Amino acid sequence: MQGWHELRHKQLWTGPRRGLNLPPVSLKKESKMIQNHLPSYLHPEQLGAWGIYLEQIDRVAPYLGHLSRWIETLKRPKRILIVDVPIELDNGTVAHFEGYRVQHNTSRGPGKGGVRFHQDVTLYEVMALSAWMSVKNAAVNLPFGGAKGGVRVDPRTLSRGELERVTRRYTSEIGLIIGPTKDIPAPDVNTNEQIMAWMMDTYSMNEGATATGVVTGKPIALGGSLGRKDATGRGVFTVAEEAARRIGLDLKGARVAVQGLGNVGGVAARLFAQAGSRVVAVQDHAGTVYNEAGLDVPALLAHVAQHGSVQGFGSAESLSMDRFWQVPCDILVPAALEQQITAANAHQIQARMVIEGANGPTTPEADDILHERGILVVPDVIANAGGVTVSYFEWVQDFSSFFWSEDEINARLVRIMREAFESIWKVADEHKVSLRTATFIIACTRMLQARELRGLYP
Ligand code: GLU
Repeated sequence: MQGWHELRHKQLWTGPRRGLNLPPVSLKKESKMIQNHLPSYLHPEQLGAWGIYLEQIDRVAPYLGHLSRWIETLKRPKRILIVDVPIELDNGTVAHFEGYRVQHNTSRGPGKGGVRFHQDVTLYEVMALSAWMSVKNAAVNLPFGGAKGGVRVDPRTLSRGELERVTRRYTSEIGLIIGPTKDIPAPDVNTNEQIMAWMMDTYSMNEGATATGVVTGKPIALGGSLGRKDATGRGVFTVAEEAARRIGLDLKGARVAVQGLGNVGGVAARLFAQAGSRVVAVQDHAGTVYNEAGLDVPALLAHVAQHGSVQGFGSAESLSMDRFWQVPCDILVPAALEQQITAANAHQIQARMVIEGANGPTTPEADDILHERGILVVPDVIANAGGVTVSYFEWVQDFSSFFWSEDEINARLVRIMREAFESIWKVADEHKVSLRTATFIIACTRMLQARELRGLYP
């Protein structure tokens, strides 16, 4: 059986970059053209997710007018920190893990973005994820730049004590560049509110003062926000509602397939089921379950909580991993990891629309195939922006030490998501481009406007 981790490695983006390749532009019109060299840490043959991001930037460049003069800014992260994370294991030996924090852009505000713990995390992946955070935050107009962090570790192999030591040492190492007004981490793949509590404590101990605003996605008892846990899934559901309405799809009775039943996919599946949709297929790292009449989502979530996977869930057919992409459905929600929808499976997809719950689940080639086949793709940079939007609410509440009700938070979240979706839809219509390019047009314009206004230092 081929899990998505293996697929991911085979399908890393390695091809030549297509699309418009703008010549590098000199900073002063009158000065001679200076060749912008590739940073030395880039290996053009193994760019992975970063290569996909660069291609997305090339596609948006023709729409940026005079601001395209600054486009190189978006192709280079502002700051990259690689740290060694040594910890003593329970058996007395010392293990070293590699950690990263990348601040892609801070033109519009402090860096903001999650931290993932995963055995396959690479620098290029974190670079791409940090850039997608910049785009996402600008797309929904949050006053943040973009950042992301990661530790190359499989947290399932660690005891609770070891996990705490990895988290604390990593936080201490990146403590040089994070802070409530500098860069604010949050949960991502395999990190949760307990890990945020340890990060907050470690940073605070080093600072000598409790700094709740240094991370978001914290437990409620430590300055976390109501509604944060469900926010990404709720945002996914909200944009699905908006997109469905525009293509004349009734969510009641619509067939939904979800990849990943974690914090994003699990909540989205629950909300779709509550809206009367039929969640017909769910895939996680270990298996795929299918029921044409609709899976019992609360029972499936309970099964996953108990057994760690959808595998073995009763009243459902078990499918091979590849078959998931062929399932007849109206809405497909990839809510797991990057590069899942590729040139190899995009032709098989039966959905009317794809709502990207995960970051970077569709390769540019697959994007083109889906577009040609008339399948609407709502890109990650808007579809999963609900999480960071409520992170922003949490950060604001921590600063003011005044906390809002859950209804207030959900209402503000839905409003922001709907307004952002509406403007993206308009730009897509105006320029006859995909929703992804439209989102990039809005976001990159905001980032580069800020860049231009601030000017270069010194
Ligand atoms: N990790 C989430 C994301 O990819 C949330 C980031 C945040 O809240 O800062 O959007």
